[in-house]
Amino acid sequence: MADNKRDYYEVLGVQKSAADDEIKKAYRKLAKQYHPDLNPGDKTAEAKFKEVNEAYEVLSDKDKRARYDQFGFAGVDPNFGGGAGGNPYAGGAGGFDFTDIFDSFFGGGFGGSARRANPNAPRRGTDVEANVVVSFEEAAKGCKKNVTYHQIETCPDCSGSGAQKGTSPKSCPNCGGSGQVRINQRTPFGVVQSVGTCDRCGGRGKIIDTPCKTCDGKGKLRRQKTIEITIPAGIDDDQILNVGGKGNAGSNGGPNGDLHVYVSVRPHAIFKRRGNDVWCEMPITFTQAALGADVTVPTLDGKVSYHVHEGTQPGDVFKLKGKGIQSLNGRGRGDQYVQVTVEVPKNLSKKQREILAEFEQNADEKNYQKRKSFFSKLKDLFED
Ligand SMILES: [Zn+2]
Ligand SMILES: [Zn+2]
Repeated sequence: MADNKRDYYEVLGVQKSAADDEIKKAYRKLAKQYHPDLNPGDKTAEAKFKEVNEAYEVLSDKDKRARYDQFGFAGVDPNFGGGAGGNPYAGGAGGFDFTDIFDSFFGGGFGGSARRANPNAPRRGTDVEANVVVSFEEAAKGCKKNVTYHQIETCPDCSGSGAQKGTSPKSCPNCGGSGQVRINQRTPFGVVQSVGTCDRCGGRGKIIDTPCKTCDGKGKLRRQKTIEITIPAGIDDDQILNVGGKGNAGSNGGPNGDLHVYVSVRPHAIFKRRGNDVWCEMPITFTQAALGADVTVPTLDGKVSYHVHEGTQPGDVFKLKGKGIQSLNGRGRGDQYVQVTVEVPKNLSKKQREILAEFEQNADEKNYQKRKSFFSKLKDLFED
């Protein structure tokens, strides 16, 4: 299974010692780069996207990462150990789960001083992540989007108990349901007591005689899920939407985790965003600039007409009030700023040349204020 697979660290382009936020950053960058919505029809990008997600799923999870570091792909492959053959609840029936091995190494089970949490206490599910790509307009005005992600949910057939319908898990007789056993050891200094994980139930406190077939006794299933989410108007690139309760299922009646949706906003061909304002460049002709003209300006609300005044200079900026982006908190809207560029005509006809030459002959200092000031400074410079 490991033959054609690239090392997860290599996939994310990080060192083995990388910190969590470093891994997260690398993942965010690559997930965005290869996101199918940004690379429609590109099979290589799609494969990369999957590879990146798989790597992140392991390296972002403390337990999985440690198992990967120790056992390689075998430590995190769902088809190995913890998967088909591994029913963690089937006490002593050949059930085998990597989590147990791992817990016994790192979970403090042997130490005696570290106390394991009550295995039957409600635990909140973990958070999950998903990506969504929206257009500039969708981000500005808000929209609804379908988001697809993997979620661990409570098995509907056994309601999470892991026991086949009509049966229920029993309290482990070995540890009395605590998941822990006390071990008395006689030493030359007296009896030393330590606390270990119950090996009959693997620390879970429960034993299942007939495991549920749907979830193989785990009580949970990992499923692909698609939900519709509301993207609020004003969302910006790289912001994260939190959807409460849509993450992984909790244990023992604990609540679900949350879904974090990472939003990417596709760049717009004309518009740029600065805060809640929209900026764009607008080319006008040099005669429009000189004479003034009504021009058509694109905005998020469609085209609007604007009067460019006589003598408009390249780089001049005009403002369209309230034509920007809806503020994310719902209060007010930004403005649109339009920066004028002036296009100098090329490929002039003979007639156009004559007209312009005649214009130039009739032009004087008062037509070109900036030029006049420039040359008077130049004169000062050389005649001092
Ligand atoms: Zn089940
Ligand atoms: Zn037990």
